[in-house]
Amino acid sequence: MSSADTVADQKVVTIHYTLTNDAGETLDSSDGNDPMAYLHGAHNIVPGLESELAGKSVGDELQVVVAPADGYGVRVPQMLEVERSSFPEDAELVQGMQFVAETEDGMVPLWIDHVDGDKVHVDPNHPLAGENLHFKVSIVELRDATAEEIEHGHPHGPGGHDH
Ligand code: ZN
Repeated sequence: MSSADTVADQKVVTIHYTLTNDAGETLDSSDGNDPMAYLHGAHNIVPGLESELAGKSVGDELQVVVAPADGYGVRVPQMLEVERSSFPEDAELVQGMQFVAETEDGMVPLWIDHVDGDKVHVDPNHPLAGENLHFKVSIVELRDATAEEIEHGHPHGPGGHDH
């Protein structure tokens, strides 16, 4: 099989996947839905899974256990406080809601924990931080990305972005 037929940077890879935790509970799955497309090398998926998919071909199935550091990060204990006034006044702030904050380190994702008066307590941890991620993946389709997809950093069309 030539390298043109294997997963590499600038390929759009379409996969079916099931994600479970250490307890065997399903956290996410494409079962019963359309498969998901991602652009390889563009960090559309967690690094530990992306690196395992490199070099694979259509029809390959793999089971990968991704440690937190290569998944959604190691859980950090601290909660942060943000002024309620730094959110739009009409924004409904609910637990688990993700937003992006501009910090000295660039744009970082944060998750709302709870609102306490004029303070919003936010969690810097992804909800799946600290979890080992057990992926079962099968590769459904593989194609070269278009120049536009490479520029956007994500795939378009079925299973990808629609815009
Ligand atoms: Zn796009």
